[in-house]
Amino acid sequence: MTDRYHIHGVLPSGEQADLWVEAGKITYEPLAGAQTLATAGWILPGLVDAHCHVGIAAQAATDQTTAEANAKRNLASGVTLVREPGSPLDTHWLDGQPGYPRFIRAGRHIARTARYLRGYANEVDPADLVEAVRTEARAGDGWVKLVGDWIDRDTGDLTAVWPEEIARQAILAAHEEGAQVTAHCFGEDSVAQLVAAGIDCIEHGSGLDESTIKTMAERGTPLVPTLDNLKIFPGLADQAEAKFPIYAAHMRALYDRRHAVFLAAYEAGVPIYAGTDSGGFRAHGTILDEILALATIGGPEFALAAASWRARTWLGALNLEEGAPADLIVTGRNPHQDLTALKELSLVMVAGVLATP
Ligand SMILES: [Zn+2]
Repeated sequence: MTDRYHIHGVLPSGEQADLWVEAGKITYEPLAGAQTLATAGWILPGLVDAHCHVGIAAQAATDQTTAEANAKRNLASGVTLVREPGSPLDTHWLDGQPGYPRFIRAGRHIARTARYLRGYANEVDPADLVEAVRTEARAGDGWVKLVGDWIDRDTGDLTAVWPEEIARQAILAAHEEGAQVTAHCFGEDSVAQLVAAGIDCIEHGSGLDESTIKTMAERGTPLVPTLDNLKIFPGLADQAEAKFPIYAAHMRALYDRRHAVFLAAYEAGVPIYAGTDSGGFRAHGTILDEILALATIGGPEFALAAASWRARTWLGALNLEEGAPADLIVTGRNPHQDLTALKELSLVMVAGVLATP
């Protein structure tokens, strides 16, 4: 078996190119004896799912076998880099294994006691948040994930869970540990407070208002809206209706506003990236659905970039330059013209290793 490959195709720039792979890296210098894998097609840097939990099953952590199957399902969809913002299962054993995507993880979700799905999170009271952030920063790969809001059963509404000043101290502690902080925020108050407290990224962000959008745009704070998965909001509202009608109405209002909110964020220049929120309630391997959803906000090329080269650059991964790790996909049809070309991938490669379908 050779580890020298040759691919001819169209790069994202529109140029035709011959690309070779040796020892897991891309080169544009011809290599003798390379096996030609594709002579026509479109070459893209491997896709990124910036919000995907391979270690989460409905209600609990997955076992190792399920996590491996989840990871492979993502890879088969063209995702060569998974950002896992919170997982009760530490999936580090997958690192560097041939035939799996790369990972950038937070540790476990950090939630306020009794203010999140049971069994997933490191649950703490505000007084212990800073210490928990340090612990999870050390368990992850440069990210910490807070659950920023959840239903408050006393008021019957969705409310922020962390006092802003404590969140600020926790974010500073994460930075001291070399990690960035992101947070699950559905509602309005959590995202406003956490952005004010200096957070590095927002997940979901359906409650963003004009002034917080402006701050995020000025600072370049990224947003991973998990837009397609927000279709769960009406169902969450229905389930809660009888006991928590205020919460239900709140979730429906957030759902109804989502396009306007994300369009405003896009137009203001907030960096937006593709994340599916797979794991638990959503199947793995559904990045195309999120790309199609993002295309309704900023068009197809914006959506493709948000799930490929632009997301990779954000997360510190190289693209298709000379010497970059060979993490790429090839499509038979032009994905720049028709995103559904991503349904049929001619090949998927991570570190120069072909993914087996
Ligand atoms: Zn999630």
